[in-house]
Amino acid sequence: MTATPRLRFAPSPTGPLHIGGARTALYNWAAARAQGGSFLLRIEDTDRARSTEESLRQILAGLRWVGIDWDEGPEVGGAHGPYFQTERLELYQRYAQQLIDGGHAYECFATPEEVQEGREKLQAAGQRPMYDRRHRDLSAAERDALRAERGPGSLRFRMPLDQQWTLPDLCKGDVSINLAELDDWVMIRPDGMPTYNFACVVDDLEMGITHVVRGEEHLMNGFKQAVLFDLLGAAAPQYAHIPLILGKGGKKLSKREASVDILEYRDKGYVPEAVFNYITLLGWSFSGDQDVFSKQEMLAKFRIEDIGSSGSKFDDEKLRWMSGDYIRRMDPAELVERVRPFVGEAIPAAVFDAAPGLVRNAVACYQERIELFAEIADKVAWVFADAVSFDDQAQKKMTKHADVVPHLAAYADLLESSNLPSSDPAARAAADAAFPLPSKQGAEPVAEPCMGPAALEAQLRAFCEERDIKFGHVVHPVRAALTGTTAGPGLFDCVFLLGRDKAVARLRAAAASNG
Ligand code: GLU
Repeated sequence: MTATPRLRFAPSPTGPLHIGGARTALYNWAAARAQGGSFLLRIEDTDRARSTEESLRQILAGLRWVGIDWDEGPEVGGAHGPYFQTERLELYQRYAQQLIDGGHAYECFATPEEVQEGREKLQAAGQRPMYDRRHRDLSAAERDALRAERGPGSLRFRMPLDQQWTLPDLCKGDVSINLAELDDWVMIRPDGMPTYNFACVVDDLEMGITHVVRGEEHLMNGFKQAVLFDLLGAAAPQYAHIPLILGKGGKKLSKREASVDILEYRDKGYVPEAVFNYITLLGWSFSGDQDVFSKQEMLAKFRIEDIGSSGSKFDDEKLRWMSGDYIRRMDPAELVERVRPFVGEAIPAAVFDAAPGLVRNAVACYQERIELFAEIADKVAWVFADAVSFDDQAQKKMTKHADVVPHLAAYADLLESSNLPSSDPAARAAADAAFPLPSKQGAEPVAEPCMGPAALEAQLRAFCEERDIKFGHVVHPVRAALTGTTAGPGLFDCVFLLGRDKAVARLRAAAASNG
């Protein structure tokens, strides 16, 4: 029987969670969830100078926002903790001693200058530049003398040399190297802090990690770690080293192209499920012709082995499009709740509470027209504002159709005496409930508490006929007068949203200032 899968994400809290980190976390999470296993979060904070509380907070918040939860780790605990490496130092010391006793690790006293000089010599001789293993075979007496002279050294791994090693990689297939190409790498620094490779192996072993998905920049570390696992008498996790994410131009993704901090996408109003969906596609595909899928659909199909072995390109436009696609598929009631944190003053809080139907109708009119939650504020502001301000295009329409502007006042009079919904948010619940917007042709309600968009359209058409003016001309200044813009939902949805008093006042104001 194979062990229950246990996977982890092991960020260093030296910066926020970016797209690449989120993708690594997501694939490990998905592999665990897809197989009924556990997903752990381990904080690799041994670089004390660069690790910050702020980065940790950003990482945890970023994971949660994008929809990744963890079974063990910070803030949730678990049976394999602590989950911060700086709280596990004794454990690393214990393993270090075991390796020293077994002859697999040795103390090295070389100064940084000596290490550098050794590298340069190897390079000059046409060899791979690395630590030249100068203290690998010191006698006990030589070591004692150096320690007495220089103080504690660093603990290095005694790499088994001249041995061909094959690393089975779930993404790359079998990869082989001669271990002589690898350094006698530092396991513990003179100050007692473990290095990444050492702490990672001890923790992956102690935490029972079965699979590790991470960026291919860790492939050489994979060899170092697998050899160490072997000398510890344990099986290494199955590794999958996955390709880097590329920018549109096919080069390494730059910070300009993908926000450094995933929380920037939250703040810009991207739909997190869409961000999750999109990140998933940066190396894995659901099917040839379906890009949008739910988490459940993804988990039913996800396998580490199916992560692609060539780099995928990050495309912010596609991400935006996908966010819009999620918005278009959302239930309007849910959309209202989710845009609420982004509307600012555009929809006053009191209106939100007093007129949910009106807010729903206003937001739903733009459901097809926004890609980010945050875009709703500018779009709907005209509905709730006391008066409109005209954009340049709207002003041009007014001038262009100056001949029909004088009719706006008469249209205002007509609306004033018509059975329109009220402009008072608290007094139009029945109207908004009867006419869910955006209106669709032929979908007028049976019992009408007031005129709806279709009746309003018929009314303006009759008005134009009576006065012998072109309906197709009048609609432009009317829209400009009511909304201050030239684009937006159906014109009579706009009239309906504004209600009688506001529509009348705006038409009269436009007639007065342009007549
Ligand atoms: N702390 C390492 C990093 O952030 C973890 C790499 C790994 O998953 O082993 O790159």
